[in-house]
Amino acid sequence: MAANQTSAVMDAVTGVLQSPAIMGFRILFYTVLPSESSFKTPEEVPKYVNQVVPFFVVLVITEMIILKLQGKSVRPPDAMSSVSAGLFSQLPLILSRNIEVAAYLWVYENWKIAVLPWDSSLTWFLAFLGVDLGYYWVHRFAHEVNFMWASHQVHHSSEDYNLTTALRQSLLQRYSSWIFYLPMALFIPPSVFMVHIQFNLLYQFWIHTELVSNIGPLEYILNTPSHHRVHHGRNRYCIDKNYAGVLIIWDRMFGTFEPEGEEVVYGLVHPINTWDIMYVQFCHWKYIIQKAYSIEGLSNKISVFLQGPGWEPGKPRLGMIEDIPDIHAPQEKYTKSLPVFLTIYTMTHWSLALLGHMNLDEYKHGLSALPVLLLTLYILWTITNMGFLHEQKWYAPHLELLRCALYLVVDTYFCGGQAVCSDVLYIPRCIFLFSVSMWLVSFLKPTSKSGHVD
Ligand SMILES: [Zn+2]
Ligand SMILES: [Zn+2]
Repeated sequence: MAANQTSAVMDAVTGVLQSPAIMGFRILFYTVLPSESSFKTPEEVPKYVNQVVPFFVVLVITEMIILKLQGKSVRPPDAMSSVSAGLFSQLPLILSRNIEVAAYLWVYENWKIAVLPWDSSLTWFLAFLGVDLGYYWVHRFAHEVNFMWASHQVHHSSEDYNLTTALRQSLLQRYSSWIFYLPMALFIPPSVFMVHIQFNLLYQFWIHTELVSNIGPLEYILNTPSHHRVHHGRNRYCIDKNYAGVLIIWDRMFGTFEPEGEEVVYGLVHPINTWDIMYVQFCHWKYIIQKAYSIEGLSNKISVFLQGPGWEPGKPRLGMIEDIPDIHAPQEKYTKSLPVFLTIYTMTHWSLALLGHMNLDEYKHGLSALPVLLLTLYILWTITNMGFLHEQKWYAPHLELLRCALYLVVDTYFCGGQAVCSDVLYIPRCIFLFSVSMWLVSFLKPTSKSGHVD
């Protein structure tokens, strides 16, 4: 009887732990068992990143509320730029296969030297360690090799540090990081790799917060908010430290560990001061191409791409720490004052773009390639334009009028006489109608051309 009761209690606990509401949080904290996350084929591996989107939202809102209660706040343009960068980095996946997975599959199918069982706990733990070690080196190279830094600097370009910063990802980084995981493809089945490459990324979400000071003895083995705050710092003691993904032991082993000391000032050593997401993604590429063009000698030109971001002829590979501005908190952050109504406007259209992206990702298989491409470009245009509005570019209102009018034309053409379509799209239609009217009125006002300055 007692054994039966114990078994019933265990079943109930297991049921709760495996319920979707709890499972989302367990995925985010990498507390999933091998038996719950082992799959035979790559096709069976869930899209964990998509599954946890609601949990991102819950945790971001919770952090915002707590920060508000503490008298601090998340700055909307910065948070929106961060999430937009995350969305931007995911857009190519709507159109094409993930290059990390594609390259891994190719090597495994053609070059594997052993086949470890996909359903073994040992394989699962080996893959956990392999992906985390691979991530350490991907990340270290991304800071120490200039052309890789050109992509990765996107993640460091926020002067804030909160959960939205975690989502600020580079569009191009995945196109150089895939190579670091290929040695695993010689013996770890792709399905196991695909589980851990997602878990490793998702674990790093919760460490982007100032709300957790430290987590006791776990600080010795895990990457934590405290360790990762140092990684995002631009104080001299923070430069090129704490590259870990999940386990901080790699930094301790390879000599790049630094504990949190004086208050961290976040962001790039030379802040780029913009909410323009296109500029954030590509500015360093422009900088290094111009630098390579202007520097003398072929080997110097090549070195601009392959040495560290701080390298110059005659200096060490990673540059000189004396060249890093010796700054201390508090430092003034980049800001631009925006009318409240415009903040509400950008948040509304930006939220519609996010919902549009989630729907497109879910229903893309029922559409042909051209509509998927056009819708993807429209989402990209939307989030880019919100950055232009935050930057108060003179052309932003003109592009907005065009963008909103285009939506209404397409909506009328495809959904004008269809009741179902009209029901679903009634609210966005009203928002776009209001927006077009608003911009037309603002253009027709005799005292101001647009209400904005550059
Ligand atoms: Zn980094
Ligand atoms: Zn980070």
